[in-house]
Amino acid sequence: MIKLSSRLHGLEESVTLAITAKAKALKASGKDIIGFGAGEPDFDTPENIKNAAIKAIKDGQTKYTAVGGINELKDAIIAKLKRDNNLDYARDEVIVSCGGKHSIYNLFQAVLDTGDEIIIPSPYWVSYPVMASLAGATPVVVATTEKSGFKMTARDFASRITDRTKAVVINSPSNPTGAAYTAAELKGLAEVALKHHVLIISDEIYEKLTYGGFKSSSIASASYEVKGITVVLNGVSKAYSMTGWRIGYAAGPKEIIKAMSSIQSQSTSNPASISQWAAVEALNGPQNTVAAMAKEFEKRRDAMVKGLNAIKGVTAITPQGAFYVFANTSGVYGKKFKEKTIKGSVDLATYLLDEAGVAVVPGEPFGDDAYVRLSYATSLEQVNKGVKRIGEAIKRLE
Ligand SMILES: *Cc1c(COP(=O)(O)O)cnc(C)c1O
Repeated sequence: MIKLSSRLHGLEESVTLAITAKAKALKASGKDIIGFGAGEPDFDTPENIKNAAIKAIKDGQTKYTAVGGINELKDAIIAKLKRDNNLDYARDEVIVSCGGKHSIYNLFQAVLDTGDEIIIPSPYWVSYPVMASLAGATPVVVATTEKSGFKMTARDFASRITDRTKAVVINSPSNPTGAAYTAAELKGLAEVALKHHVLIISDEIYEKLTYGGFKSSSIASASYEVKGITVVLNGVSKAYSMTGWRIGYAAGPKEIIKAMSSIQSQSTSNPASISQWAAVEALNGPQNTVAAMAKEFEKRRDAMVKGLNAIKGVTAITPQGAFYVFANTSGVYGKKFKEKTIKGSVDLATYLLDEAGVAVVPGEPFGDDAYVRLSYATSLEQVNKGVKRIGEAIKRLE
């Protein structure tokens, strides 16, 4: 047996992926499974974007590009950051990567050292603590609660800062909770970061998917000083239903972007040339499909939240963004099905998959076992049907 790298210590196989795989297998075997596990929009990539990719192939845009992305895409990103966020960046302050996840990975590798601490509010996207550990740093998890809308307060943030704190991750709107910070809340957090020289890592991938009139803002736009200590992360995966194209980007201080580019140059090189041209069209082309998608998501969100709250033992607050509901299912824990006690979110997710044919994601890997995550990136009909099935299955518990 070859001994695996010690960096892998504690790196577990994702529970999310395990349940998704089981749901897929059940579906393939002919079972009627309703999927609330999806981490991607169910809409097709808009036609104009697909056509831009086809054109890129026909035009021969099929070779290596600059490591950090073609200038046309960098300029489209710069224009987007100006238009939507009132942020000014130059080309050497922007990098395009193979998905937003890749940008985050490179950023963690570029700025985190062994012994550094990185503050991560929970519930969190599963990859943040793992990527921090892979970079040798220690994730410092700051728990948030439903009562605070799953948002970290400036006071909580300040109380966890030590002389080892290097960075903080802010993900608004959030995966898995859908919580979104107001501009004033972001400003409060930014002031703490400024005071203690903490790098702000702002994951804004769900920026375009907000509801009920809520408008997402970038923490970097709080002030010129704040922008100087912030790296903004975004991408086309969620807003343009382009998860498979693998285009994400980061904007921030040029020394950091340069370091990320060096890492990228020695590992993946440039993101796919064809996808880059598609992303140029996504950012520069008509934006009406984004709004249409958000409108549809909002209807499903409302139906899901309403349905879940009607189930005894389940409560859910209304998320402002993304496409997830983080439902409190702790009222069901301790109940039994055929002598087997539902002890936590993993047991419940397994039970719902086996007995209701509904795939949900346990909250445990996101940092809070009292919850399960349900994605409404599926039709309104499926949302209603799935929630009904969950209700019936929970009723059967004793
Ligand atoms: C989906 C997602 C990303 C990035 O996805 P990519 O497909 O790699 O661009 C980043 N952060 C969060 C919280 C996400 O849910």
